[in-house]
Amino acid sequence: MSMKKDKILVIGACGQIGVELTLALRKMYGDTNVIASDLREEHDLLKGSGPYVSLDVMNKEMLHVLVIRHNITQIYLLAAILSATGEKNPLLAWHINMQSLLNVLDIAKEEGIDKVYWPSSIAVFGPDSPKETTPQHTIIEPTTIYGISKFAGERWCEYYNHRYGVDVRSLRYPGLISYKSAPGGGTTDYAIEIFHEALEEKKYTCFLSEGTYLPMMYMPDAIRATIELMEADKSKISVRSSYNLGAMSFSPKEIAAEIKKHIPEFTISYEPDYRQQIADGWPQSIDDELARADWGWKPEYCLEKMTTDMLKNLAK
Ligand code: NAD
Repeated sequence: MSMKKDKILVIGACGQIGVELTLALRKMYGDTNVIASDLREEHDLLKGSGPYVSLDVMNKEMLHVLVIRHNITQIYLLAAILSATGEKNPLLAWHINMQSLLNVLDIAKEEGIDKVYWPSSIAVFGPDSPKETTPQHTIIEPTTIYGISKFAGERWCEYYNHRYGVDVRSLRYPGLISYKSAPGGGTTDYAIEIFHEALEEKKYTCFLSEGTYLPMMYMPDAIRATIELMEADKSKISVRSSYNLGAMSFSPKEIAAEIKKHIPEFTISYEPDYRQQIADGWPQSIDDELARADWGWKPEYCLEKMTTDMLKNLAK
């Protein structure tokens, strides 16, 4: 496969998405052309796979120097404070989520960066949005600080695109489920914990109630969606805020039943905490018609296929 000449910077590369996305980008673009960066120490799965730099995205000058020094042509910004953690320190979440994006967008504008990727979330929707097959354009009144910061971020992305021509692209990820790197403090983390506990303890106490339906996606689909969006021809991108993106929707009761098919002795109990209120404000399923129509999005994993794959890989 011929390697492309781009030079990519991944910010927040040691997180749940960052690790897998960095490895996928290295396969496509060549190991040395994808620079991983994070506040944290290099993740074990990244070690030896390509260049790593320690970076605080809040330090705009340092980021700017890095971009110039390495002739960066694409930036993936994944650093953020997630929903559940954000509620514990709202001002910090707002500060980090907004300033990191503004630093990246502004440097992209200054340096003529080819493409920027920044994820939004289903958390932009609030209690007044339609709950089922939530449309791209609808009432958007988020009530968590995470959702507020994502919605504001979407507006900034569209603004930088319309006003300055920055080619920034974005997806509203649903809850992401993966086995390679640990989740970072989101409201959908239960759907990952449940697999670990099912294998280790044969039981799980869920922090959401049994009937809480949320939109979810298996990580391989999320990585593919991200890369397909970024590889799509510019003319196909009609949404410059952030695309709705869907794959599956299930409740804790349904995922538990699916796991029981593989581990019959598995039991689940429910002790909803503060995260229940966050989940109650979010959609149950997503209408991703525009992503499908514009750049051909199609998910591969349903609950059944994902559960089989998660258990197989975690058991290794
Ligand atoms: P994560 O918390 O697992 O990873 C974020 C990474 O950013 C961490 O490794 C952290 O050390 C790093 N980071 C934090 N502050 C930093 C700073 N100042 N400078 C540099 N690095 C910093 O998060 P994730 O789950 O990988 O999410 C990545 C993006 O996707 C976020 O924008 C998140 O809001 C979004 N998203 C995630 C999900 C999900 O289910 N995981 C769903 C919707 C949207």
